Amino acid sequence: MKRLIALGLTITLGFSSICALVLWESRNRDRDQARLAAVNLIASIGSDISRNFELYDLSLEAVVEGLRLPDLSTLSPRMRQMLLFDRAASAKDMGSIFVLDKAGTVIMDSRVETPRADNYAQSDFFKVHRGIESGGPFVSTPWRNADGEYLIAISRRLSNANGDFTGVVAVTLRLHYFKKMLDRLNVGSESSLILAREDGSIIMRAPYKADLIGVNVSTSAVFKRISEAPEGTFEMNAGLDGVKRMYAYQRIGELPLIVSYGQSLEAIYASWWHEAKIIGLLMLGLCATNVTLIVFLASTLKRRAKAEHDYAVMATIDSLTGLCNRRRFDEAIDLEWRRAQRREQSVAILMIDADLFKNFNDQFGHQAGDIALKALADCIAAGARRAGDLCCRFGGEEFAVLLPETSINDAMVVAENIQAAVASLRALQNGRPDSTPTLSIGVACLVPRTGLEPRDLIRAADGALYKAKAAGRNCCVAVPAQRVKADNLAA
Ligand code: GH3
Ligand code: MG
Ligand code: MG
Repeated sequence: MKRLIALGLTITLGFSSICALVLWESRNRDRDQARLAAVNLIASIGSDISRNFELYDLSLEAVVEGLRLPDLSTLSPRMRQMLLFDRAASAKDMGSIFVLDKAGTVIMDSRVETPRADNYAQSDFFKVHRGIESGGPFVSTPWRNADGEYLIAISRRLSNANGDFTGVVAVTLRLHYFKKMLDRLNVGSESSLILAREDGSIIMRAPYKADLIGVNVSTSAVFKRISEAPEGTFEMNAGLDGVKRMYAYQRIGELPLIVSYGQSLEAIYASWWHEAKIIGLLMLGLCATNVTLIVFLASTLKRRAKAEHDYAVMATIDSLTGLCNRRRFDEAIDLEWRRAQRREQSVAILMIDADLFKNFNDQFGHQAGDIALKALADCIAAGARRAGDLCCRFGGEEFAVLLPETSINDAMVVAENIQAAVASLRALQNGRPDSTPTLSIGVACLVPRTGLEPRDLIRAADGALYKAKAAGRNCCVAVPAQRVKADNLAA
């Protein structure tokens, strides 16, 4: 039964483990899929931005080349405007291309022939080129124009034949361009898609948060991690809002820009959680049912085993006296006989009969007779207590005691003990007319040999009992082993 319970529990545990493993695998799969989708998404954003920036830069390069033309200053402002800015790409969110002199003053503007008197000497896209001799296009930090619109500038250095700084050509781009691009992607509220400069200034964020535009996040743990490699993925708690996210990031081509997509883990695992809860609950239900069934089955089996045991015991017990019955005695004597034969040891039995019991019954009634039989059985059980001794009600008012590995002398001692127990009981009953009757006991003992059977031993003990009766009852008579053998072999 314990094995059955263990097997049932092992199967339950096995199923639960398999289920947990499958759920774990599906969680990992969801995470891997989310990572792949994020990497693909930022790659496509990156290539989109990179392609557009290439176009803007080509426009800037065309202006740089045009400004080098020797006769440029001789042309009319209108002709000069056409020559320099005709090839300039124009997109919806692209502002004007303007040329600054080496003091940062606007000297040309692609949209007007006579530019406004603006000066950008303090702008980062001006300052950076003044110091550096050459290099690719520069992307500025965002700023707000007079209309409250966020802009960035993409700029290139202007230099003379000696390489000396002569000014800057720049194109402005409304951040609305990036906002539109990122808004289309429907980033969840707990996730964040960020376009930032390499120095950590945020250019655009989706979902859009105006107060984050231009904020420098270079000291945040997430950005520090992003700065470690040109591209990668990792999981981290975002410093800004404390949400745990899986980040995928990459540099955009040769541009000093980074795009990073942080998906909240809660969003990534949302559908998995839903499934896991349902499967987990089902599994829990199944396990509980299984365990209940196992417990029920185990208790049923236990009850049945106990009932079977009780029946088996009842089938071998005499209900009146509580001693073994004749059936049990026959089995036991058979077994002990063979065991004794193998070991060449002696087996002894006592045949016991209540004296003048018929008279007792006649005098005091059958019920008193039953009580007396029970009292005699108790005396017999008290006299033969060694392990292996077997006391039995042989039938009617007759009893038998099987004494394995016992000599005739020891068997006689047992018989006398029983007699003594009856005597002391009778003494207690103080000579009452219905005192427990006395017993006559026949004792026989032998070492089983070929040609002999258990019933030979019983018959010999019966003979001894007969002699005890003949000798006046209430006594023990023994038949020595040799006699048993001789008598029976001769018979
Ligand atoms: P003896 O000393 O020679 O054995 O005489 P006895 O009267 O005991 O022998 P007998 O065989 O003539 O009588 C046995 C009696 O035992 C007869 C029967 O009524 C009684 N007896 C047998 N089984 C039971 C029983 O279960 N309960 C009761 N009360 N009496 C029983
Ligand atoms: Mg009898
Ligand atoms: Mg009798």
